[in-house]
Amino acid sequence: AQRARAKAAPWGRFMADDGQQERRQMALLGEFSEALASGAIWVAYQPKFGLAENRVIGAEALVRWRHPERGPIPPDDFIPLIETEGRARELTCHVLDHALADLSAWLPGRPDLVVAVNLSAMLLQEAGLKDLVGDALARHGVPPANLTLELTESAIIANAADAACRLAELRELGVKLSIDDYGTGQSTLSYLRQVPASELKIDKCFVRCIVDNPHDRLLVRSTIDLAHALDMTVVAEGVEDAACLDALRLIGCDVIQGWHTGKPMPADEFAATIGCTSSR
Ligand code: C2E
Ligand code: CA
Ligand code: CA
Ligand code: CA
Repeated sequence: AQRARAKAAPWGRFMADDGQQERRQMALLGEFSEALASGAIWVAYQPKFGLAENRVIGAEALVRWRHPERGPIPPDDFIPLIETEGRARELTCHVLDHALADLSAWLPGRPDLVVAVNLSAMLLQEAGLKDLVGDALARHGVPPANLTLELTESAIIANAADAACRLAELRELGVKLSIDDYGTGQSTLSYLRQVPASELKIDKCFVRCIVDNPHDRLLVRSTIDLAHALDMTVVAEGVEDAACLDALRLIGCDVIQGWHTGKPMPADEFAATIGCTSSR
């Protein structure tokens, strides 16, 4: 009996955890609409720093959920849940709306500023995507060229048939497209040539090691050269120190994003960073 209990124990524990996990997920889902409405779900901005310009040229909008009991919930813990439950559109609209409202307050002082919003893979299947983005831009009076949409390569590949059409429509609208997390998926040269993106973001897992690892440095360098040959701007993600920034400058990287040049921060803090006094 003891042996049976010992065997059953880990399984029982697993079941309990699994049930608890599921209940927490269900609870979060139930709170999602309320969190959107109450401001518990908000948008942080991480500076994108131009090396040639030697200043902040824009920001990436990153969603945050400040939960009243559970504290901050990382996006990786709730975005997949929201997406599988078909609520990606609501989340994207919320982030887009906040990002464009903030951007419209900054543009008078910095007309060149570009804000990037992450686009859920699911939205590439939506025929109304172009209108969704176009309407939001019009509502806030933001020129399309001041908005970038970031898409992961896996999102584009998973929706290849719809993606080509949706991306062409977005380009027609005049927004910029950026390939996010580059290097972590299965991109091919022909794919890179087909996607009408003007920016490539090299994933932080490659950027992290370039100072100490000549092999990684070579990989990043050839990716930069390739992107430049395709007329794309290169952003390095996850730049945490000056040594990494210097190494990236040497191999021709255009834009830096990482803790070294600024962590994700609230809108008013970002406005102060770029010297804008006006905030929404
Ligand atoms: P991502 O688009 O690759 O965003 C970059 C992530 O790297 C962010 O994590 C950012 O905080 C983090 N990061 C920036 N600089 C550094 C650094 O120097 N070192 C390290 N270690 N990390 C750095 P975060 O904010 O937790 O977001 C995680 C992911 O969640 C994002 O990855 C993106 O895929 C997704 N996400 C965030 N906001 C949204 C959103 O509004 N919509 C959608 N669909 N996805 C979002
Ligand atoms: Ca991104
Ligand atoms: Ca990324
Ligand atoms: Ca990522």
